[in-house]
Amino acid sequence: MAEPTDSYELVDSTALALLKLRCPRCHQGKLFSTSALNVTQFAQMPAQCPVCGQSFEPEPGFYFGSMYITFAFNVGTFLVLGVLIYYLLGNPDTWVYVAIITGVTVLFTPLILRYSRALMLYLFGGARYDAKWRSRHGRAS
Ligand SMILES: [Zn+2]
Repeated sequence: MAEPTDSYELVDSTALALLKLRCPRCHQGKLFSTSALNVTQFAQMPAQCPVCGQSFEPEPGFYFGSMYITFAFNVGTFLVLGVLIYYLLGNPDTWVYVAIITGVTVLFTPLILRYSRALMLYLFGGARYDAKWRSRHGRAS
């Protein structure tokens, strides 16, 4: 088991590390540089993990594939919201569906984009959790 680090909290579970948007290798470094509430820069990622140095962009254009994951998230959102609106609001006019679904989609765009990229990196980035990376490679500066 790896020892806890100075300012980064350790997440042993890969699912939890993904939920917390942490590096796939060390589960400590943050995948995104700013807060999700930063409207203009919510998609900014450092080139590599600030803790272990794992590359966050394995190849140029790596995150184009995450558009498909974003699409899947959005289709899921449309379906769930559509069913909820239908049953909770008694099948209102079409503009109500459009307004609510558009509003929620825009509101959740930063989260959906971040989780799509994180999933892409976890599934296809080629990095696996390595609890002993520090003892093998020393501290990344
Ligand atoms: Zn890392």
